[in-house]
Amino acid sequence: METDIDIIPKTLKKVIEEISGFPGYGEKSAQRLTLNLLKMPRGEAIELIKTINQMLEKVHPCKECGIYTDKEICDVCSDEKRDRSVLCVVEESFDAFTIEKTKSYKGLYHILGGRLSPLEGITADDLNIKKLLERVKTNRVKEVILATNPTVEGEATATYIYNLLKNKPVIVSRIAYGIPFGAVLENVDEFTLAKALENKIKL
Ligand SMILES: [Zn+2]
Repeated sequence: METDIDIIPKTLKKVIEEISGFPGYGEKSAQRLTLNLLKMPRGEAIELIKTINQMLEKVHPCKECGIYTDKEICDVCSDEKRDRSVLCVVEESFDAFTIEKTKSYKGLYHILGGRLSPLEGITADDLNIKKLLERVKTNRVKEVILATNPTVEGEATATYIYNLLKNKPVIVSRIAYGIPFGAVLENVDEFTLAKALENKIKL
């Protein structure tokens, strides 16, 4: 006989449900995270929640580029030494943070806030694309580097933006990517390998 008895506490269930609603989080990873929270010393858990609260109060997208910042205009946009004629378009703030770590990029960023994904119902209207076109026009941008991820969705997003910009007086480039340094060919997936061949450089 089937019973409806549910031994999981309601609040616990609610937290797991909320977390598993995040993109990329399944029920299992939500359970793991919740379990870690429950196992934390109470004081530490409360500190964590306070820190999250502070982050939510202070961190917001930069008015110009969309990078998460605790200032009105982010450190990159307000840095006079950056080259304002180049925009590097990325999916999320963390992509920009990663590029910043290389210390090899001196232009500005533009954060899309995601990538086109018909499966998840994410369309161009959900992304920060209108503002990108505005910036290109009003700031007399000379080059737009499309640095969306080398995934099917990232690629579709780059193509979509390329089509919007191709007839405008701006150079549009795509970051080169392919086989990671140190990788063995047989371990590289077909998509990456195909892209690496497509992006081959003359020696
Ligand atoms: Zn900014």
